Amino acid sequence: MILAHNIYIHVPFCMSKCNYCAFFSAACKNPDWEFYSDNIIKEIRYWSEKLGRISIPTIFFGGGTPSLMPVKIFEKIISNINSNFNIDKNCEVTLESNPGTLDEKKLSDFIYAGVNRISIGVQSLDDKKLKFLGRRHDAKTAINLIDTAQAKNVRVSADFIYGLPDETINDIINTCNDINNLGLQHCSMYELTIEPDTPFGKKTLNMPSNEEMADMYNAIDESLKLPRYEVSNYAKAGNECRHNQNVWDGAPYIGIGKGAAGRVLIDNIWYEQFGNWEKFDKLSDTVRAEERIITGLRQVRGVYLDSDIEKIINMKYVQDNPELLQRTSDNRIAATKQGMLLLDELILNLVR
Ligand code: SF4
Repeated sequence: MILAHNIYIHVPFCMSKCNYCAFFSAACKNPDWEFYSDNIIKEIRYWSEKLGRISIPTIFFGGGTPSLMPVKIFEKIISNINSNFNIDKNCEVTLESNPGTLDEKKLSDFIYAGVNRISIGVQSLDDKKLKFLGRRHDAKTAINLIDTAQAKNVRVSADFIYGLPDETINDIINTCNDINNLGLQHCSMYELTIEPDTPFGKKTLNMPSNEEMADMYNAIDESLKLPRYEVSNYAKAGNECRHNQNVWDGAPYIGIGKGAAGRVLIDNIWYEQFGNWEKFDKLSDTVRAEERIITGLRQVRGVYLDSDIEKIINMKYVQDNPELLQRTSDNRIAATKQGMLLLDELILNLVR
């Protein structure tokens, strides 16, 4: 049997650091792209020797700001994946991008080179808020990129951040209406979290309370025309991010690049890999099942109830709490709308 693995490739460079950002990324205007891609290719070859000529259902270029990458570097990486693995015919190839780093020509070149899904870091459609967040673009540039991408043969998603200091429910509803008007088929709505080692972490900000955040979360659900399919992700049916769905469902994926993590399956044994790709640790079936419960329950469709999950899940807790959890007709355990708001607590009670 030829096993499939998804691939995540980390591109850690940005033009500058945003005020809230705790991701593994560095402000670097002129990265050494040849050096970067040579290392990526070494990792591709390493995994090809370990895993054989596996098939690849999805490739996700995440950042950082992958759209800063010259298209010829992207082509070089894809061509190496192609010569070492079997890229599926309908492989989903996502490129994360930031407005201001991608003009129409470069976007077309990426699409010609194989990108078929573009995820745009919009974050806000309010110039004041963009400035506050430390973003380099304004709303007009973001809307232009969305429009340009939507006119091409590529699936388009946009990321937004809510729960900024002093933000109101009305602000959130207006953003959702703007998203509806833009005709997006996929968007991600992330709550602003303040991380200690960021410019925001060193300030005192008047953040919304947990109750206000929950109200905003519910307002998004009610105002967006797109249905939610994961805690922070909304899509028209068929436009979900397949890469993330595979990862959340517990499918194996290779993390490539310094800041990438992965879960690989070699001879039926799961390994966790992060950063240093030559060192990776074995994961027990129990830990792997716990991970699958954590990521699976973030999805509206829930986690598939196979024998590994059955071993560690407290089914009595599911039966006793129908307002939080339900068993679906396709043998999954899924959180209800109310359960989604209490996921952390719920998972602690669910795992024996
Ligand atoms: S563009 Fe994204 S990865 Fe880069 S600094 Fe901003 S939030 Fe972080």
